Amino acid sequence: MNVEWLARLPAPARAAIYFGLQRGIGSRIFARWRDFQTWTRLSPAQVEERVDTQLDHLLAKATTQSTYYRDLKLVRRADETARQFLQRFPILTRETVRERFTDLVIDRLRPEITSPASVSKKRYDWLVVKTGGTTGVPTAVVHDAYFRDGGRATRLFSQTMCGFPLGTRYFRLWGSEKDLLQQKESTEKRVLQSLLGEIPMNAFRAKTAELSAHLATMRRHPEVKHLMAYVDASVSLASFAEENSLPRPRLETIMACAGTVLPEWRKILQQTFSAQVFDKYGSRECADLACECSAHDGLHVYSPHAFLEIVDETGRACPSGVTGRFLVTLLNNFSFPMIRYEIGDVGIWAEPRPCACGLPFPRLQSLQGRQDEMLITSDGTRLSSGFIRHFVGVSMNRQLIREWQFEQTGKDAFVFRYLPMGRAGLDENLRQIRQSFQLALGQMAAIQLQEVAEIPLSPSGKAKWILNNWKRG
Ligand SMILES: [Zn+2]
Repeated sequence: MNVEWLARLPAPARAAIYFGLQRGIGSRIFARWRDFQTWTRLSPAQVEERVDTQLDHLLAKATTQSTYYRDLKLVRRADETARQFLQRFPILTRETVRERFTDLVIDRLRPEITSPASVSKKRYDWLVVKTGGTTGVPTAVVHDAYFRDGGRATRLFSQTMCGFPLGTRYFRLWGSEKDLLQQKESTEKRVLQSLLGEIPMNAFRAKTAELSAHLATMRRHPEVKHLMAYVDASVSLASFAEENSLPRPRLETIMACAGTVLPEWRKILQQTFSAQVFDKYGSRECADLACECSAHDGLHVYSPHAFLEIVDETGRACPSGVTGRFLVTLLNNFSFPMIRYEIGDVGIWAEPRPCACGLPFPRLQSLQGRQDEMLITSDGTRLSSGFIRHFVGVSMNRQLIREWQFEQTGKDAFVFRYLPMGRAGLDENLRQIRQSFQLALGQMAAIQLQEVAEIPLSPSGKAKWILNNWKRG
């Protein structure tokens, strides 16, 4: 079915059809999106008040309806604010989420959600979401329909922040495994893409042919001025254009996702595409959490959606200017409360002063998120580590591998280290993983699979799951 005509409809028409279709499948995204927008018109003090109300509701529900939180036997004191009560909750680690998965689910849904493999019978309902995480250990969480709609509202807001609100057309340089594995996208997905005004480009493959094709796609659409991209993939594309002195498409804005925007990366993106760069922060399990605004002076945390804390090694709150670990409390995921969830990223609060953009949400000065290193294929192509992250952590993970690490040891030489969880089906799983690596890295790549008893730590003592110990030149 040809659905491309949809992309040619005026933006307001496409947005209206999009919300209509969502209502048809049982989503309440429109209401959640409108609610999110009401928050942007509040004063910072009013935002704090509404966050308190949300926290109050969430903590009460968690401590009475989820076995994990009930077992903690936390009781709110009469003189305590919701925020103070929150401080007495333990940090929720990924390990705990894995071990207590079913206990975290609230009573009402526990008969339906019995393991991370559970699937809802309804069309638009709760969903088990898997994430690769920072250490490569798979973790599963549950998003209910209300949270999913809220999560999608955060994505609409990110687009607004980055200058291309719903309906505005944009290029999307993202990982499409369907494309990599040479399968067709469903008609439904293509309808949605056309309505959203999205022009997809696959970030999983970053060979000369694909990079040239991406630039050609961009030149075919000079009217499209925005790019949503895996940051490292967009840097590969920019470097490719620069190194080969190819004509560079002019954009207005770039939403840089799924990685840390290093200063040198920002510079090359600005130069190559003559565009403003917006650092956007989010994850699969928490949806979008923060985004840089037009003042380019830090990232605003999405208060309607999440309450963020930054703490030091001992768990004490960090003042602005001091680097610490992020703890995320999702304010709307009542079916699977995630309270003080340690997401695995570190960052710094900005000074608490009003932002020039006028948004009342608190600001992060900067993020020092996952420091994955980029991989380099034999022809010098920089490959997004998002590919490895996605394939091994999410798509290919059959719950057979406990931990893993992927290292580039030389030109065309890679080692995949893994700690198996079970034996049944492991060989087949490893074969699929190797095949995906080969597709992305090229047939020249020698990929060694190595079973290990533990994942070696880096000299800094941190477990790194994607690293490049071979540098070009
Ligand atoms: Zn701002």
